[in-house]
Amino acid sequence: VPDQAKRFGVICPCCDQTCAAFRPAGLKHRPNAQCPECGARERHRMVALYLKHRTTIDRDHVSLLDIAPHPSLQRIFSTLSNIEYLSADLQSPLAMVKTDICAMPFADASFDVVICMHVLEHVPNDRQGIREVYRVLKPGGWAILQVPIDYHQCTTFEDPTIESPQERERLFGQHDHVRLYGLDYRDRLEEAGFQVELVPYPPELGPDVAAHYGLKTNRDRYTWVCTKAATTP
Ligand SMILES: [Zn+2]
Repeated sequence: VPDQAKRFGVICPCCDQTCAAFRPAGLKHRPNAQCPECGARERHRMVALYLKHRTTIDRDHVSLLDIAPHPSLQRIFSTLSNIEYLSADLQSPLAMVKTDICAMPFADASFDVVICMHVLEHVPNDRQGIREVYRVLKPGGWAILQVPIDYHQCTTFEDPTIESPQERERLFGQHDHVRLYGLDYRDRLEEAGFQVELVPYPPELGPDVAAHYGLKTNRDRYTWVCTKAATTP
């Protein structure tokens, strides 16, 4: 952990801002959640740490597709000249290409890396979205596919008849979510062909180090790293 974090409280791994604590955010105004400088929430900070410390995207020449881009991670990607960057989304003005994740206008095997965070829980046909991510990845490529997960539930809860924003919020956690994933999220990824690794990062940093980045090891548990095999059978 950088010394500044020890002196000031927390540090954002996306923008290096230090402060006593991050701002509250989320429906329940979760404390210590959002970076005041770049807007990074816990999920962005944990994935930023994973990318910085556990991958070589800071030096390898990679083509990267950022689905539903967030400024905090865009900031990191934009500083790395070795990354051939493309962002895509159905609605976001930050995206370079406007597209539905279920029917992306990219050729097969176009990208080395896909980042897709908190998208699939909004997508009615998430299996099709996952297949599309798999399709556009090069063999040997990998994706980070984060979704909100109830790690206490084995089974994903979804019911397409539930359409009211109030009911969706009550049952799925947010007004525009169409399901609440359980641990069987992994099955959907594997069905598409992915090799799935749940990397316990940041928990493997330990609670004290994680706290300096405003992360809680019992909440921010896993980075979902999904790899397309280099040779398909
Ligand atoms: Zn920040």
